[in-house]
Amino acid sequence: MERENAWKKYDQKALKAVESAAQGYKAFLDKGKTERECAAEAVRMAEENGYLPLAAAVKKGGGVRPGDKFYQVQMGKAVMLFHLGKQPLEKGLNIVGAHIDSPRIDLKQNPFYEDADIAYADTHYYGGIKKYQWVARPLALHGVAVKKDGTAVSLVIGEDDKDPVVGISDLLIHLSQEQMAKKLSEAITGEGLDIMLAGRPLKGEDKEPVKAALLKILKDKYGLEEEDMLSAEIEAVPAGKARDYGLDRSMILGYGHDDRVCAYAELAAMATLPEIPEYTCCCLLADKEEIGSVGATGMQARYFENAVAELMALTGEEGDLRLRRALAASRMLSCDVSAGFDPLYAAAFEKKNAAFLGRGVCYNKFTGRGGKSGSNDANAEFLGRLRKIMDDHKISWQTAELGRVDLGGGGTIAYICALYGMEVIDSGVPVLSMHAPNEIISKADLYEAIRAYAAFLTDMGGR
Ligand code: MN
Ligand code: MN
Repeated sequence: MERENAWKKYDQKALKAVESAAQGYKAFLDKGKTERECAAEAVRMAEENGYLPLAAAVKKGGGVRPGDKFYQVQMGKAVMLFHLGKQPLEKGLNIVGAHIDSPRIDLKQNPFYEDADIAYADTHYYGGIKKYQWVARPLALHGVAVKKDGTAVSLVIGEDDKDPVVGISDLLIHLSQEQMAKKLSEAITGEGLDIMLAGRPLKGEDKEPVKAALLKILKDKYGLEEEDMLSAEIEAVPAGKARDYGLDRSMILGYGHDDRVCAYAELAAMATLPEIPEYTCCCLLADKEEIGSVGATGMQARYFENAVAELMALTGEEGDLRLRRALAASRMLSCDVSAGFDPLYAAAFEKKNAAFLGRGVCYNKFTGRGGKSGSNDANAEFLGRLRKIMDDHKISWQTAELGRVDLGGGGTIAYICALYGMEVIDSGVPVLSMHAPNEIISKADLYEAIRAYAAFLTDMGGR
């Protein structure tokens, strides 16, 4: 039952392909450090591969053929790609779905204040973070501010070598006796995650002169007023690029592997499809997974269902019943990262049922917590068919559950898509230091994920 390490099977040609996938992925990670940036990059890649806006086809009405490719964006934060197949949509789609939001630190709507001649931004963290990991490290600011006239001002500060960075200070060790005695979860508080932005007063200004200087910079450089922060989404993320990790360069250290590594693998797999696939293939990139898949861009919103309905109107398969049949007959890989076994924290895992770095794409039959609570728990029949596809294509794959029983848990978008009655299983790349500012993956697992998703999209038949 033990799975082989994928690196052992690679010849020179395969090693080249592994490295080429890794380079493409690192560039994707560097360009997409927020959900908006990832969505824009996914659209760019889709257009490069011949995908057209679905909305334009809807406006034109009808006339679509197998082989046609469409994309649709939901509010700039979620993206869907459709590649029409030979079979009618009613026979179901082959879907790969990931999320493109990652844990981070968001600026509050009224963020700025000055204390002790330092200007700060107040923040509210997003997703599950260990707060102590986010202090005393360089952060970059990414986001948009929307002015009252609707103009959106995008900003990225801290990624270019010439840019300044920002960050959150930590207490010096010399005075940390009380802090060090606290629990890790309490040593740094949510309200304590305030970002230092400026430290030089504006000349001639008496009241909060450092904050005044900060506001002047925002005005002069970006044309932003303090009030524009009321309608802004500014995210503080770890500054810097993804890097090769390990002396053998077998791994990648980067921010946001969860879940942009699966998002990238999906996009790369979609690009390998035959001109006309058997069944319609769909790549789904959702937002808000890290906070429960809520909101109009989260998986619980109906944009995916709506887009399929629009497609079915175009193929002449209108009607609510046919839409329901299409969704119920679909097959899906919920592509999300899995916890990689970490020997330094071996007690958190049960080794026979853990995912190992380098052993390939990982299938999680279930996630959840306690007695599988909140999990999707995929059907054995579906898993049986997947095993055959994986083995037929000589893909390195493994199965795992999320750590030791009763230790914690987590979820993905799987259970939401399963609400339609489609077959869904979690499948992703094992990650070390998940949700930390810098996470770790193996290049081999990325490569195997791309191959696995491509094989699933082409080979998974109807029910
Ligand atoms: Mn995830
Ligand atoms: Mn996550």
